Amino acid sequence: MARLEVDAVTKIFGASVRAVDGLSFAVADREFVFLLGPSGAGKTTTLRMIAGLEQPSDGRVLIDGRDMTWAAPRDRNVAMVYDRNSLYPHLSAYENMAYPLRLRRTPGAELDARVKRVAEILRIGELLDRAPRQLSGGQQQRVAIGRMLVRDAGLYLMDEPISHLDAKLRSHMRLEFKKLQSEFAATILYVSHDQLEAMTMADRIIVVDHGAIQQIGAPREIFQRPANRFVAGFVGEPAMNFLACEVRADGGKIAAAGDGFSLPLCAEHAAALSAVARTPKAFEIGLRPQHLAIAGNGAEDGDERESGIGGTIYAVETLGSATVFDVSVGQTVIRVQANQDALPNRAFRINDPVRIRVDTRRLHLFDRESGRAAI
Ligand code: ATP
Repeated sequence: MARLEVDAVTKIFGASVRAVDGLSFAVADREFVFLLGPSGAGKTTTLRMIAGLEQPSDGRVLIDGRDMTWAAPRDRNVAMVYDRNSLYPHLSAYENMAYPLRLRRTPGAELDARVKRVAEILRIGELLDRAPRQLSGGQQQRVAIGRMLVRDAGLYLMDEPISHLDAKLRSHMRLEFKKLQSEFAATILYVSHDQLEAMTMADRIIVVDHGAIQQIGAPREIFQRPANRFVAGFVGEPAMNFLACEVRADGGKIAAAGDGFSLPLCAEHAAALSAVARTPKAFEIGLRPQHLAIAGNGAEDGDERESGIGGTIYAVETLGSATVFDVSVGQTVIRVQANQDALPNRAFRINDPVRIRVDTRRLHLFDRESGRAAI
């Protein structure tokens, strides 16, 4: 049982580095929550304050309703793993993992079963007799993760624990972490800058930037309804396209118009923005590459001439099941990701004129000044 509350926590380093700026969030018992953000966003500092390795300048940390802001790390029933966890060089992998259990005088049979179960999940069962110097960096890291997981902690804090593993192992570990979490009924707060990790593992994601929360939500919600331009640009691969535009009434319809294009808004968006259209204001359109399609520009391509955004092919990249087109539109390049089976039956060559088809119900609009989502 573990419930975490971070209440208006701030950390100022030295005179002026505001690493964490009044952060408030809660993690429910058995919830798997991600702190997701770019380098320098304040994620590690937040985790260290929860673990008791750093003192907040302001605010409180509560675990199971008890104020732990000033409690020693060992009194918090929190286990933390981070990327460069060091192992005890003179102990075998097995003993490194068993160490926290020996400290707690765990009975031998239970200790052995727990170490072996975790080793199996981490695929290091064969390596348990080895000393750390006989292991690769990735194997050492898995032993370090194992040492944390064998502990029966209420709350697990993980700081990019798999970022140095190779791609295949990372994908295996993503699945295993998720299974492990439900098996151990663990509460996990996991720090990462990798949106794929967050999207695949998290129950909820807290997106942070500059020490402040940008959005909290389920992965799908963060992807489909980003609260602002930062979240929209940070989450999603390939990244969202942004185009400067104005929202205005265009021949009786409300349209988002910019350099060389005018996209009529769908009825729902038009209703939400009808007041804005009377006094044009600067926006940015956000278009996910996955929500766009590509079509030719010739007569045989029919009514495609009438809609979408016109441009020319700048580059084509084939990724197996999908093709990514970079299309020059005015001064910018728009990425379009098309599944192989959704492609028109023709070849596209560099400099070919094309039209980008836009599903206007799926476009995003951000206020250019504040960055906030307008629809
Ligand atoms: P990364 O993904 O690169 O680890 P992060 O989101 O974990 O980044 P933090 O390590 O929490 O970010 O750092 C947040 C800010 O605080 C950064 O600007 C960093 O330079 C600064 N900072 C962190 N620790 C200290 C310190 N001990 N003294 C001074 N500034 C610090």
